[in-house]
Amino acid sequence: MNKVELEKIKVKALEEHIPIIMDDTLEVIDKILKEKKPKAILEIGTAVGYSAMCFSEYLADGGIIDTIEREHERVEEAKENIKKVGVEEKINILEGDAVEILPTLDKKYDVVFIDAAKGKYPFFLAEAKRMLNENGIIFADNILYKGYVMSDYNKHKQRTAVRNLREYIKEVTEDENCKTEILEVGDGLAISRF
Ligand code: SAH
Ligand code: MG
Repeated sequence: MNKVELEKIKVKALEEHIPIIMDDTLEVIDKILKEKKPKAILEIGTAVGYSAMCFSEYLADGGIIDTIEREHERVEEAKENIKKVGVEEKINILEGDAVEILPTLDKKYDVVFIDAAKGKYPFFLAEAKRMLNENGIIFADNILYKGYVMSDYNKHKQRTAVRNLREYIKEVTEDENCKTEILEVGDGLAISRF
């Protein structure tokens, strides 16, 4: 993969305030993927393809990432970026709303990375669980949402998002089928190992 191009894409995304994965969050996920060498990853929220391209380095031979994005312009940009970096073989973009696309998928994944509409996290979790392989891992980015999730502040205009992120945390921490860690890296990362 062309890491010089990847770095340029990162810089441009940050300049344009596209909420790409933060360095410390990426570092944690990289370590886990390096060990796991997944064959199939599902990502919800492609943006311009940055995180998918970073993860693609750790796929097993012949492995693939399916990634979902609803904004057409971002899909177009992600496709161009993926070509520039030379990882077209490893990343498959599905364009549309994940709420509609997920129920149509019937594949198994070793890893799911949830990084889209916060109000939909509990739904994304249910769909991720349905498609997760044994010993799979589900990551959820932005799980602490600028600290709102762990504070008692609930008059914020994003209260639906906050309520749903709290619901996600409750579900994964109460689920006896998985072990969950909530890390204060980036905007908060939940790691659930099944
Ligand atoms: N994973 C990317 C960043 C994703 S930002 C990275 O780290 O590089 C979140 C993206 O999710 C945005 O581009 C947004 O358009 C998309 N998104 C939000 N809700 C969505 C939904 N319901 N279905 C599909 N995409 C969604
Ligand atoms: Mg994110």
